[in-house]
Order: sequence, then C-alpha cells, then structure tokens
Amino acid sequence: MADRDSSPRRDAQTEAVMKDGDTMSTVLSQVETPAGVTLPIYMDNHATSPIDPRVLEAMLPYFTSKFGNAASRNHSFGWEAEQAVETAREQIARLIGATAKEIIFTSGATESNNLAIKGIAEMYRERGNHIITQVTEHKAVLDTCKRLEKYGYRVTYLPVKADGLIGIEDLKRAIDDKTILVSIMSANNEIGVLQPIREIGKLCHEKGVLFHTDAVQAVGKVPVNVLTDNIDVLSLSGHKIYGPKGVGALYVRRRNPRVQIAAQIDGGGHERGMRSGTLNVPGIVGLGKACEIAYAEMDDEAAYLRALRDRLKSKLEAELDYIHVNGSMEHRLPGNLNMSFVYVEGESLLMGINDVAVSSGSACTSATLEPSYVLKALGLGDDVAHSSIRFGLGRFNTEAEVDYVAAKVIDIVKKLRELSPLYEMVKEGIDLTKIEWQAH
Ligand code: PLP
Repeated sequence: MADRDSSPRRDAQTEAVMKDGDTMSTVLSQVETPAGVTLPIYMDNHATSPIDPRVLEAMLPYFTSKFGNAASRNHSFGWEAEQAVETAREQIARLIGATAKEIIFTSGATESNNLAIKGIAEMYRERGNHIITQVTEHKAVLDTCKRLEKYGYRVTYLPVKADGLIGIEDLKRAIDDKTILVSIMSANNEIGVLQPIREIGKLCHEKGVLFHTDAVQAVGKVPVNVLTDNIDVLSLSGHKIYGPKGVGALYVRRRNPRVQIAAQIDGGGHERGMRSGTLNVPGIVGLGKACEIAYAEMDDEAAYLRALRDRLKSKLEAELDYIHVNGSMEHRLPGNLNMSFVYVEGESLLMGINDVAVSSGSACTSATLEPSYVLKALGLGDDVAHSSIRFGLGRFNTEAEVDYVAAKVIDIVKKLRELSPLYEMVKEGIDLTKIEWQAH
C-alpha cells in the first residue's frame, strides 16, 4: 500500500476532518469498543488468513525433530518426511475429489497458475495457440497470459456482466479449433463471485479443450469437486485456508483426459517431473492439515460466515443510503461482502476505520492509487470504485466484531457525507448527471 498520508488522492473531505491539527482517530473514534472485541480487527481474509492453531501444531515437529528431506530414500528421516507429504497429498485430494497422485506441490497459487498455463501452452503448442480467460482474473493468470502473447499465443479475455459472471454463450463463441486451454477462476478475490464452473467445465470437455481454474478463494469455502465440475487443472494455496504462506498445490488430472504439463522449474525431477525442488515439508503438512479441517468443517463454517456477512450487510443497509453490493449476491462466497459507499471519498473512509483491516477498491501501483480493475470491469466509475470496501470475513471473526465494524463504518460514512457537497445536492433532489461543471 502507498503511504496514505502522502497520497495525492487525499481530498477536501479528509482535509476537513483533519483540520486544526486533529488526527483522524481523535475526530472519528466515537464508537466504543465493546467487551470481547480486541483492536485492530482483521477482516481481510481474502488477502491472507491467520494460521489455525491446529495447523501450526501439526507443522511444528517438521521444523525440529522430523526435519528429513522427503526425497531421501536411504533412512528413516527421509521416509518419515515422505510419509507426511503423502498424507498431505491425500488430505488435499479428498477436499477436491481428486486422487493423491494428481496433486503437485508448489510455492503457492501464483506458481500453480504459472505452471498450469505456461506448462499447458508449451506442451500443447502443436495442437493450437489459443487460450481463453476473463478480465477479472487474478494478476497471476492475467500477467501469465500476457507473457504468452509475447511468445505468439493468442489470448481472449472474456468480459464479465454487471454481476461479475462470464456469459457461457460468450465462452462458447470464443472457443475455436486452435483453443487449447480455458482458464476461469472459481471465486473472485475481490468481489467473491462464483463463476459457473461446472457448466464451463462441461462445455470445455464437450469441445475437447482443457479447463484450468484458479480455485484459491473457493477451495475450503464452497464445495469444489474436480470430477463433477469437469476440472482438468486446479490451483490452490495454503494461506487462504488458515494454512501457511509459501505453499500451494496444482491438481493435474491423470485420466479422461490425462493432462500433460511442461515443467517450468527444472532440476531433480521431483513431483513427477513437473516441479523440481526439495519439498517444503512443514508447509505441505500445514496445507494438508488445513484441507483436512476444511473438509470436516466447511459446511458449518459457510453457514456461520454467511450469517455474519448478512448481518453486516443488513446493519449497513438499515442506516445508510446510496450504498450497493458489487457482484452477484446469489453466486458468492459466504464470507465476502464488497460494497460501494457512494458520495464518500474512499481514502477518507479507510482512514476513518483504521482499526479495522479491510481492503479498498483501490490498488496501489508504483506511485498512485488506481481504481480496482475488477470493479471497473463491472462498470463502476473510478470514484465509486475508490469508495468501495471488501470485507473478507473468516473463521475467527465474531458477531461482536461485525457489530463494531458496522457501527464504525456507519459513523464515518455519515460524517463524511455531512462534508460532501455532492451528497447534499443529491439529497436536495438535484440530478448530478445534468450539472455542467466548470473547470477552474
Ligand atoms: N489467485 C487468487 C484468486 C488469489 O486471491 C491469490 C492470492 O492473492 C493468488 C492467486 C496468489 O496466491 P499466492 O499468494 O499463493 O501466490
């Protein structure tokens, strides 16, 4: 994130609330912290999730006494490590309906996405050079595709509708006789919308095209099954499911069809030759344990998160006008709420809730805050995109935290709007679209 205090986007609203040497906290913190709530509150679980204590406990011995190299075939240290890795492979496979042999360990989903897309592009080059993806993918997919374009591949970036979903008809039309791969994410990391994965997979299989999905945000949160969803290759990551950072996996289908992936990292031939490098045994054990917990608890947890999310949404909607949810509410991760607060300057809003960790609709590039390309793809203007917040609820959030966050957001939005001439004009019934603004 850019340094907020030096950001060029600070505007009159922020200056106004900070006048006379006040700090944001002295001006704005008028919502009391209820008992049982510890500040700051973490509500950014799509960015990363805290590690589950059960996961940490499972990992710890593999940093100390069980430190063997899983590739050491000659002694018990190696066998012990290998056994732990194989158990993790099974735990991950069970969560997504795969078999253990179809799981390849990586350093995370960025690497998994790179390996899947580049590995398939290279392996199937003779069959065709066309790849289809969509505009709201994570950069790990978009930038991988952009690189392949430099090497002569043709990439179609499907648009999304206002609800964030792609149109199956658009996909059908885009597939041609040179298409080798379709890569569409299962759940979006900003707006939480769930793409129609099963239908996409079915279409790809009918057309004989491979289907990869970046399922980082979906795995462990909603049911994902590579068989019934017709998925050929799937990326997942440890740190989004209460596991460790720096470890992930790629599911690569072995039958109907048997998918072939060209390695992108060469070396000792680990992971069936697809990904060389000494395995991160503690990380893999943690990823496996995280998947085991998700498999056992996902249904209850989804109901819990949905209730928290809906509570937050109704509290905000009961008190504030001119707010809206971005992306489909129907096809959505249970723990995601992405809302725009119109007539509020985004940065002032975030500063006003600086004891709550959430993400904004602004992405930092080197020097400036850019509006989120995901929100823009839904048709939002720059200002509304900037005034949007992603609430990412997770396993360890509580009702009391939701109530505090709702009260805090309501308080700051009302205060900022009191300072907003635009909001005042709208309340007076003036149609802003009809105003001719004068430059000065
Ligand atoms: N894909 C999606 C949808 C994500 O949300 C993320 C994480 O931000 C990634 C890929 C990258 O995952 P990792 O951090 O494991 O490299």
